[in-house]
Amino acid sequence: MSGPAVLVLSCPRCGGPLSGLQQDVAFWCVACQVAQEVVGERFVERRGFIARAAAHANRPTLHLPVWAFGVDYASHWEDPEREALARQMPRVERVYVTGFELHNASYFGDPGQIFTQRMVHLEAGDPAPLAGCTRSLEEAKAYVEPHLLTIIDRRVDVTGLELSCAIGEALLWGVPFFDEGDRLRDGILGLKIPAAALDELGAIRAHGRARG
Ligand SMILES: [Zn+2]
Repeated sequence: MSGPAVLVLSCPRCGGPLSGLQQDVAFWCVACQVAQEVVGERFVERRGFIARAAAHANRPTLHLPVWAFGVDYASHWEDPEREALARQMPRVERVYVTGFELHNASYFGDPGQIFTQRMVHLEAGDPAPLAGCTRSLEEAKAYVEPHLLTIIDRRVDVTGLELSCAIGEALLWGVPFFDEGDRLRDGILGLKIPAAALDELGAIRAHGRARG
């Protein structure tokens, strides 16, 4: 089996190699710890970090992109009962949006949605390569309100809800996933994703090996 072509790109900051695959929209500089997103014909810097795994596993670790948005939102229902119920809900401060291509996430759960629901707090870890970011920052933003609505709807019926949401700081995280062969297990919550749900897994694995 021939390996996939790895696009060679260089970092506008340091001139070093950027990590990513041909179809990606954002590329990662391991040295600068910064993502460079292709917008039009140029690079736009996106802040980011490689997240530290909360667990350890004797498996190769791949880092997959997940966007995180600081959010400030207001919800309002005409119905006072729903309004009162909503006041008891813990506030979501960060919405996570999966940055990599994932098929049939509704069967096993979308990591961005679940990280948001579980109010994950990521901490920066050691530099590592990152690949597979096919969702741009603007595309990811479109998932912020739907993710919030899904979470609110678990506590309070969102019928009649007026939601306004301001999106603050955006970060691109490289989330560690342990490669268990037929599935990936994330190093934060231990969620499992079938390997078949990632079209580009072969290329992402090859990329991880090539960059050590
Ligand atoms: Zn750089």
